[in-house]
Amino acid sequence: MKRSFSIFIKLFVILQSISVLCVSEEFDFFYFVVQWPGSYCDTKNHCCYPKSGKPAADFGIHGLWPNYKDGSYPSNCDPDALFDESQVRFLIKMTQVTILVYCFCLFFVYNMEQLTDLMSKMQKSWPTLSCPSNDGLKFWSHEWVKHGTCAESELDQREYFEAALKLKDKVNLLQILKDAVIKPDDRFYDLDKIKDAIEEATGFTPGIDCNIDSSHNSQLYQIYQCVDTSGSDFIQCPRLPRSRCPSRVQFPKF
Ligand code: AMP
Repeated sequence: MKRSFSIFIKLFVILQSISVLCVSEEFDFFYFVVQWPGSYCDTKNHCCYPKSGKPAADFGIHGLWPNYKDGSYPSNCDPDALFDESQVRFLIKMTQVTILVYCFCLFFVYNMEQLTDLMSKMQKSWPTLSCPSNDGLKFWSHEWVKHGTCAESELDQREYFEAALKLKDKVNLLQILKDAVIKPDDRFYDLDKIKDAIEEATGFTPGIDCNIDSSHNSQLYQIYQCVDTSGSDFIQCPRLPRSRCPSRVQFPKF
């Protein structure tokens, strides 16, 4: 009886390990993708500001996407891993349910500070622009389920969002472009000058993606930077994404 119980435990452990291996797909690198909000709004001809208000005139995070060297990418890797709103929306729930119980506990105060911090950073650096106006959870959830779950071998959900926020803070792309006299002023700029400015400042060649606005202008839309599989360091891109940009692109106001 004791023996069959121990065999059962061993089998259970092996099956658990197999299931973890099945959802934690390997990948070669990340694309860290930021977007210019003015171009997003021009593409759709309109956009909606998040409930927290108009985002800053800065590049916002679109996502941190696991990729393969051959140009393909994994997606929706863990059908069981639903977006755990509590990890991002914790503040409201925590405030309502547990603040009274733990308000004298220093550990709780420390955690609250961290969680509040993450939420406000997400709103600032990863703004939703889809309509109707919302709090961003839908966009973040989409990014986690489609892309983040394919990096679960490296980062859990909270680490995934934190990694993206840290990458955003590491490189100030708007400042880099401004220093090269490339500004969001509705004027047209050489694509090569945009790429060169970023390469000179960061040491790595970026990928650039363009959109087309309602007047058929090609605009600077998204910038791709490559990141190692730990999600912490920028690297030279093993493969640049396909670009739809002509040689001169508009940098619209926002
Ligand atoms: P992905 O599937 O990760 O390539 O992201 C594409 C989806 O994200 C599309 O449905 C876009 O409309 C949406 N999307 C891109 N940027 C934003 C944004 N700033 N706010 C809300 N949705 C966005």
